[in-house]
Amino acid sequence: MPVLIESDCINCDMCVPECPNEAIAMGPEHYLVDVEKCTECEGFYDEPACIPVCPIECMVLVPN
Ligand code: SF4
Ligand code: SF4
Repeated sequence: MPVLIESDCINCDMCVPECPNEAIAMGPEHYLVDVEKCTECEGFYDEPACIPVCPIECMVLVPN
């Protein structure tokens, strides 16, 4: 279950430094998660590190 960034992302950059896999990067219009790199933070944290830091709660776990 990778994390998806919804289109209301405000490009605040808060989530980027939280990711241990460097899976988050700016896309054409807003930040995006590379599903090939996102591991839900397995091996690093108990829960996805990016989701709680998003100020507008636009990061969600989605089924594969
Ligand atoms: S869940 Fe973890 S690995 Fe996936 S994008 Fe967020 S911080 Fe990166
Ligand atoms: S923290 Fe949320 S609003 Fe900020 S860049 Fe990441 S996904 Fe977008």
